[in-house]
Amino acid sequence: MDAAKLATETFNLDKNVKGKYFFSITNNLDNGYMTTGGEAYQTQQVEITTNFFSGSLGGFVRAVHHEFVHVFQRAVLGYVSSVTHARREYFAHLDSVYNSDLPAASTAQISFWKSRIPYYLKEMQKIYQVPAK
Ligand SMILES: [Zn+2]
Repeated sequence: MDAAKLATETFNLDKNVKGKYFFSITNNLDNGYMTTGGEAYQTQQVEITTNFFSGSLGGFVRAVHHEFVHVFQRAVLGYVSSVTHARREYFAHLDSVYNSDLPAASTAQISFWKSRIPYYLKEMQKIYQVPAK
């Protein structure tokens, strides 16, 4: 919990969503991902998973940043429906990988997140029925 707060303060991760979230921490590593949940335009719960504590600082900071993108999407834009899931993940992955304001993460972490970007783009193309080659 302190690690998430320290990363948030150090890198100003919550600059657009102050007061719109709270942290919780879990050892439940069923999927190993941090998550953000809550109703549209309401306070969001950001769940920090402890598995990130053993990785690089950059990996942790970028994972927390990813969740703050979701806080903005949900609490400010009101995007919470399943229809917007792929769009939310696409932008969160994009902004966590291509962000020069955050410390470097491991090549493996960046590669994984990068691989998710075209995946979610394809998901959006299915939902919005944009012709794809
Ligand atoms: Zn996400």
